[in-house]
Amino acid sequence: MTQLPSHFSRRPQDRQTRSLFKVAIVGRGFTGILTAIALLRTVKRPFHLVMYDPQQTVDISRSVSQSATTLLNSRVRDLSVDPGVRDDFSRWLEAEQKLGEAVGCERTGRDQSFVSGELFSQYVHQRFSEALQSRTDVVVQICPEIVTGLDHSEELGFSLSFGERQNARFDTVFLATGYGLRENTAEGQAGPAGDNVVVIGAGVRAVDRALRLLANSQARHVTLISASGFLPQSHARSAVGPIVSEEPFPRTLRGAFRHLRRAAEVANADGSGWQGIMNGFRSRAHDLWQELSAEERGRFKRHVRAIYDSHRNRLPPEHFERLHRAIADGAITLRKGKVERIASNGVLFSGPAGLEVLYASRAVDCRSRPTDLESPLYRSVLRAGLARRDVVDLGIVVDRCGRTASEPQGSKGLFAMGPLGLGSLPDIDLVPEIVIQGHAAAVALDNWIHELSLAEQRLPDE
Ligand SMILES: Cc1cc2nc3c(=O)[nH]c(=O)nc-3n(C[C@H](O)[C@H](O)[C@H](O)COP(=O)(O)OP(=O)(O)OC[C@H]3O[C@@H](n4cnc5c(N)ncnc54)[C@H](O)[C@@H]3O)c2cc1C
Repeated sequence: MTQLPSHFSRRPQDRQTRSLFKVAIVGRGFTGILTAIALLRTVKRPFHLVMYDPQQTVDISRSVSQSATTLLNSRVRDLSVDPGVRDDFSRWLEAEQKLGEAVGCERTGRDQSFVSGELFSQYVHQRFSEALQSRTDVVVQICPEIVTGLDHSEELGFSLSFGERQNARFDTVFLATGYGLRENTAEGQAGPAGDNVVVIGAGVRAVDRALRLLANSQARHVTLISASGFLPQSHARSAVGPIVSEEPFPRTLRGAFRHLRRAAEVANADGSGWQGIMNGFRSRAHDLWQELSAEERGRFKRHVRAIYDSHRNRLPPEHFERLHRAIADGAITLRKGKVERIASNGVLFSGPAGLEVLYASRAVDCRSRPTDLESPLYRSVLRAGLARRDVVDLGIVVDRCGRTASEPQGSKGLFAMGPLGLGSLPDIDLVPEIVIQGHAAAVALDNWIHELSLAEQRLPDE
């Protein structure tokens, strides 16, 4: 039987005056804003949307790029927020005549170029404003609260709490808290110039930061610390689509990666490049992941994830070349190891030769943080049985549209979006995947609301 949310009244006279369907989005990073765009475009009935985030402004460049000048590592053609219009971002750039410092544009054209996080942020912001303006029947509230708890009951629906403050009730909740609450670090701001700056992290963000420190003369030398020793690989000069071989795809971790290595070697030898093979592999990664045992997923996390990430999150070729020139010239030194502690004069580093103090005028931490399931919000979600941790502890178990696999009946309206679902959906931390998921979730919600209103109409009069 379809469970009716609290505001769906059983009394016909109340049905005339019922309140709007209430939706909360917790987090206003890229995932939260994208989810809002998808809901505004898809959900047909009027609704009341409340978006929570202590960040005062709707500022996507902070979330997507940390610093407005950071170059995104996806090409323009892969950054549309409209799954039905793949070149929407490219068209926006053309209409706005904004290309800024686009990298690679002259060589390969606008679609294949790389632009700054600031431009992408402006685009997403504009699409959000347009979606909002087109829905005069939707009430939208932006609230600066930190959500500290979530509970659910059949009678009252979801209730969000905010520290000591009063609770608020909702029919549906979208968790879009990504990498958690941000500390107000000085990252992105100019610090004093130094002889040696330590940058911690192995991803595109760490490389971008290291290159900018050198380019802006904020560091004469950068020590880049990668726990795995890997650094991001390069995009192909021209974009390549997914290449998928005819061979049956292996169903084990070992088999799949052997297959990937062989196919990449062949592609490199014939000049087509491994990137297309990797793109093809990613398109099958979801099915492979569903087939892996918990043990194999754990093995992936421990032994394969770092190298997988270094091949999926790629650098624009120009940046890749700059990085390797800087390493060859001695301006960047790569160290493989773990940072045990960050101090004011450097870091305590644990490398193959043991513990060492690396002196530095500054340390910049660019490590990506996993979802913090120990935060008060997630402790309450897990305690109430509204969601489950995935087996490799990367986040929450979700289906393709982000719905959590919850225990109690009737809590169908809880979604954990974007990077929160990384343990269930490979690559769900990337813009194209988040866009598809956000729109699928909006369709699921629209269907559910429709189902609920039919159930309500069928209720006998009291
Ligand atoms: C430097 C960088 C470059 C990137 N470049 C690309 C790219 O080129 N292509 C690509 O596909 N992907 C890229 N990504 C990845 C992708 O954009 C991210 O995965 C995505 O931005 C994640 O967004 P999010 O909104 O889920 O999380 P976040 O950005 O972490 O936002 C979460 C928000 O939730 C809020 N929040 C957290 N907890 C609470 C709470 N309890 N109550 C209220 N609010 C809360 C936080 O304040 C925050 O604003 C990049 C990421 C980074 C960091």
